[in-house]
Amino acid sequence: MRFVFLGLPGAGKGTQARILSERLDIPALSTGDTLRQAVQDGTPVGIEARTYMDRGEYVPDGVMVHMVEERLQEPDATKGFILDGFPRTVPQARALEEALGHDATPLDAVLQFRISDGIAIRRIVGRYTCPVCKRTYHQEWRPPASDMACDVDGAQLEKRNDEDALTVKRRLAVYRDQSEPLEAFYAERELLRSVDATAPLTDVSERMFEALRDLL
Ligand SMILES: [Zn+2]
Repeated sequence: MRFVFLGLPGAGKGTQARILSERLDIPALSTGDTLRQAVQDGTPVGIEARTYMDRGEYVPDGVMVHMVEERLQEPDATKGFILDGFPRTVPQARALEEALGHDATPLDAVLQFRISDGIAIRRIVGRYTCPVCKRTYHQEWRPPASDMACDVDGAQLEKRNDEDALTVKRRLAVYRDQSEPLEAFYAERELLRSVDATAPLTDVSERMFEALRDLL
């Protein structure tokens, strides 16, 4: 099974990808995580990507396509995968289609998780991560027991520097410009399925499984 997950940042698609990943025993490939790792490791792709991310802009197609194609060739992705955060543009979608076409392994479905801009901003701004155990917190919905310290290991929590309100608004605007043609691209191929992601996490999971019922 091969899936692409679409949706605004903050739509919770990363969480839903992990849930589906466990159910189907296929990897959930977050391009965001892969990119951040590359940036942190200071690889050539990472250094190039960083100049864009620091400005709150997306990394160019060529860099992303190269990174994803390499990742899909790893052994764990041979029986399927969930792509979260890629493709973001029609050229990226075409590059993916071509890459999968070489192996005669087309996508099974593209799941679109829908939320409003307002909800996206509220969910993203205020999010903190523990640098040690990677647990995430939210100042409004899931605050740590003691101020700015991880409940598990006491480490000082960090805010991702690409998550202040202004940067988030710019990301959403860029996303919207790119997502409409992308959704049309997949709708044309009869792959697009829509899930309302405004509800709590467990309800969204149920809707996701419902939307994929004929495939699972
Ligand atoms: Zn921790």
